[in-house]
Amino acid sequence: MYMKESEIRPKELFQEYLELSRKDAEYFDKSKFDKTNCIACNSSDTEKKFEKNGFTYVICKDCGTVFCDPRPSIKVLNNFYRNSASAKFWFEQFLPKVEETRREKIFKKKAIQLVELIREENIKVNTLCDVGAGSGIFLEELNKLKEEIEYFAVEPGNVSSNMLMEKGFPVLKKSVEYADEWKGKFDFVVSLEVLEHVNKPLDFVKAINNLLKSGGSCLITSLGYEGFDILTLGSESNSISPPHHLNFPSVVGFEKLFYRGGFKKVEVLTPGVLDVDIVLNSNHSTEFLEVLKSRGEQALNEFQEFLIKHKLSSHVWVLAKK
Ligand SMILES: [Zn+2]
Repeated sequence: MYMKESEIRPKELFQEYLELSRKDAEYFDKSKFDKTNCIACNSSDTEKKFEKNGFTYVICKDCGTVFCDPRPSIKVLNNFYRNSASAKFWFEQFLPKVEETRREKIFKKKAIQLVELIREENIKVNTLCDVGAGSGIFLEELNKLKEEIEYFAVEPGNVSSNMLMEKGFPVLKKSVEYADEWKGKFDFVVSLEVLEHVNKPLDFVKAINNLLKSGGSCLITSLGYEGFDILTLGSESNSISPPHHLNFPSVVGFEKLFYRGGFKKVEVLTPGVLDVDIVLNSNHSTEFLEVLKSRGEQALNEFQEFLIKHKLSSHVWVLAKK
């Protein structure tokens, strides 16, 4: 049986967070937002897709990436993540309450999957850095599986970077875009669920590339537009949550972004397991969804398997080689 959304996002807590996000979004001075070309392929050929909480999302006609345009500046975003009610709620209320569940349901499993991937792809890893490592749960889980690797963290948050240090991980307390001290230091870099938040995805991808040794690899997880839940629910999807989530590349968009960022080999996978559960728990209903639901749990699980196999889940993994 697959994980359920409610296990990692308890409904009431999550609703409170979404409500705070909606209110925060209203306070932004949209007249000062920056215009941008496609965040994945740099095309200027875009059209409006939808609006949410006063933020506009457009779709790139060349690569199918959906992104917030215009968008808040880096300075405004940094201030938002330090001081906003929704960000504080997320880090101080939401995450601590679900931390152990997330360790079991998400990070432990991701660590096993990553170790498996490293073995399959025959990648030699002596040094590994987690970018946006949070409180270090993923590094702890990796360390349990692969003690021989030396682990590092890049983490700008005060509370999180202190926790990482207490756990014994060397930390660079800054955004990865400014992490030049560790240029060319790592065999492998991971970054979980950061890319969807950043103002300039290309700079972020280049900064990841910069941390890697020549021939090194990275695994970046993020949100993609071409997932069953987002394609079905559109702007009603909780993943479309400005100002937190700004970037939703298509599968092709992810490839273009990472090649532009200097990687030589890029592979996009969508191992997400929640799309079907999210759609069936939403208020959205169609005849197809009703009939699908009536086919029972095995059909639902196999449908999710199909989404994974054909890159149709919104939870994306990008494995890229420098
Ligand atoms: Zn594009």
